[in-house]
Amino acid sequence: MNKNSSNIMALSPTTSNKRETVCIFGTGDFGRALGHKMIQSGYPVVYGSRSTQASSLIPKDAEVLSHAEAAQKASIIIIAIQRQHYNFLTSLAEILHGKVLVDISNNVKLNQYPESNAEYLAQLVPGAKVVKAFNTVSAWALQSGTLDASRQVFVCGDDMEAKQMVMDIVRALGLTPLDHGSLLAAQEIENYPLQLFPMWKFPILLSFGLVAFFFFYCLIRDVIYPYVYENKDFSFFIAISIPNRICPILALTLLALVYLPGVLAAIIQLYRGTKYRRFPDWLDKWMLCRKQLGLVALAFASLHVLYTLIIPIRSFVRWRISSQIVSQALSNKTEPLNNTDAWLSDSYLALGILGFFLFVLLGITSLPSVSNNVNWREFRFVQSKLGYLTLILCTAHTMVYGGKWFLSPSSYRWYLPSAYMLSLIVPCIVLVVKFVLIFPCLDKPLTQIRQGWERNPQYSE
Ligand code: NAP
Repeated sequence: MNKNSSNIMALSPTTSNKRETVCIFGTGDFGRALGHKMIQSGYPVVYGSRSTQASSLIPKDAEVLSHAEAAQKASIIIIAIQRQHYNFLTSLAEILHGKVLVDISNNVKLNQYPESNAEYLAQLVPGAKVVKAFNTVSAWALQSGTLDASRQVFVCGDDMEAKQMVMDIVRALGLTPLDHGSLLAAQEIENYPLQLFPMWKFPILLSFGLVAFFFFYCLIRDVIYPYVYENKDFSFFIAISIPNRICPILALTLLALVYLPGVLAAIIQLYRGTKYRRFPDWLDKWMLCRKQLGLVALAFASLHVLYTLIIPIRSFVRWRISSQIVSQALSNKTEPLNNTDAWLSDSYLALGILGFFLFVLLGITSLPSVSNNVNWREFRFVQSKLGYLTLILCTAHTMVYGGKWFLSPSSYRWYLPSAYMLSLIVPCIVLVVKFVLIFPCLDKPLTQIRQGWERNPQYSE
């Protein structure tokens, strides 16, 4: 019998494997979701609540007691209550003395209070060891188990032992703790869930600005000008023609803006003769959002492809083709095939197809699941060499589009050049500067600088 019971004892949760009781203050959404997960992971859970009445929403294996009673049953107390209700905790200061208090709260605005919620909690209950954790995990993700995107739990606190205890719980729940240091980091951690696509702000605002500018530019040239001078109503251009002008312009300009900070950085490094001085803030930020700029550019390029594919079924295009056929029939004259035009049109389409193919390849390699599977050299080859090739192809596609009328004075309306010509400005600047930087007299010192050489070393021996 003894032998049997010892076997059972080894597997039983009442042995040394037994988890320590965890107390959760607050039976709201987050308190309940976290409680469920903890019970599943083998932690006995006791709730501290204003109402000790049983509710069907509360995990059935958990006890619900008053705050004071619940706090006495555990050395770790998770405060699943909004910050504005923390005041009542001062009356429990004695019971909470020496306990680990886990602050999981978030705010509704960035830097809403002068101090972080965790530091505020530490001020209210000075005898407790406050640890910040779990605030970046949502109650919904905890309950539904869809934690793939938010498996990381940022943890910070001044007491190493308390922090370790919380990190052990985080691991036991199948999550990954990331130690962010002392409680001073709490404000930063509290700001994380409030950030709204921080890297996308600049590319999206810039795109909106450029779309608005080019929309009015094309409206003036393609709708208002013919109306004023030829009394023709081309207002329907707003639906497809103008968007199909704006999309390629944006795609090309934004793609060039992905590579512009790289050449600016090279010029700065050559001028300073060192890579050990920080770039200006604006350039740092610009460099950090290059991937997002490239993806927005790809989105515009894809729209351009879609708009182009529907050109043959547009009523205006069908009318124009049939009226040309009718006028040839009436004049009993067939226009001969213009070989130059055929070459220009085919080259323009071929460059566009190849450019778009490489554009998509760049987008695919920027996905984490793909970029994680290539080494740094391969990634740089695709993003830099193939990236420049994409820029060259797309720039050439735009230039050939202009064909015989490219830079011709007749294409100016009210002194305004065609919109596609404006889209060539940034790409041409980038490509010319990049070409100049390839010359050995510049490339050699730049490579040396990037390998750590300095023209005027700051710490010479
Ligand atoms: P909730 O559903 O509103 O629950 C808050 C709980 O606090 C209430 O159920 C109540 O529990 C208690 N409470 C309310 N007023 C109180 C008072 N005057 N005095 C004492 N206790 C009071 O909120 P929640 O969504 O669970 O959020 C709780 C905390 O978790 C917040 O700080 C939030 O920022 C943080 N958080 C939430 C999520 C989420 O996805 N929901 C994610 C990360 C962090 P009793 O009725 O049992 O007393």
